[in-house]
Amino acid sequence: MSISSNCEIICDCGETFEAELWKAVNVSDNPEIKELITLGGFNIVSCPKCKQVFYWEHFFVYQDIENELIAYVYPKQYEKQATEYRNHMVKEFKEVVKSMEEIIKIDFEPTLYFGIEDLVSTLKSEEYIKDEIQILNFISKRIELDLIFLKPSVARNLCVINTIPKIKKSTGDIKKDIISGLEMLLKYNPNLSEYEKLLSRIKKNVSCLDEILMYKKQ
Ligand SMILES: [Zn+2]
Repeated sequence: MSISSNCEIICDCGETFEAELWKAVNVSDNPEIKELITLGGFNIVSCPKCKQVFYWEHFFVYQDIENELIAYVYPKQYEKQATEYRNHMVKEFKEVVKSMEEIIKIDFEPTLYFGIEDLVSTLKSEEYIKDEIQILNFISKRIELDLIFLKPSVARNLCVINTIPKIKKSTGDIKKDIISGLEMLLKYNPNLSEYEKLLSRIKKNVSCLDEILMYKKQ
């Protein structure tokens, strides 16, 4: 469920007025709000006196359970007290997880943002990554590729794409299989920049795969 409520806004012109703002966003219920956030139309208010239209910074919780992203988004100026807000978030999140355990199991950590910008850039880059994953899914059915899946929250923390190809005919060394899988994928479609990035990251330091593989879904 998404929740909005009336808040008091103070305009630069000195006018005080009330406007309805989102305090909790559930993307499964309201995918259109996610779009509002990425397009810059979220919690935008308009001053009745001077007609100025602006974003009103205000704490909200962003929830996308399917993608394992629950974000506490505080105003930018609160960043000075980051530790305090992080502690508050961790405490509150524990209670939320406990209260929901009958309905849904939440087995990932919340993310803390100060200012909406970092959330916007996370959402935008994940939208882009989703397109490349779709292409991989499509291609893997045509060439001899298997897929390795990571939990979305883990992939986000490791800054890695959550679906990784490997060749079907295993050499017995999964790291080699992944490198060959990525090379095959990029030969088929050289325009997948996220996978290209991953391949060059692995080639630079193959042991980065140890951590990634530790978290793969069985
Ligand atoms: Zn005004």
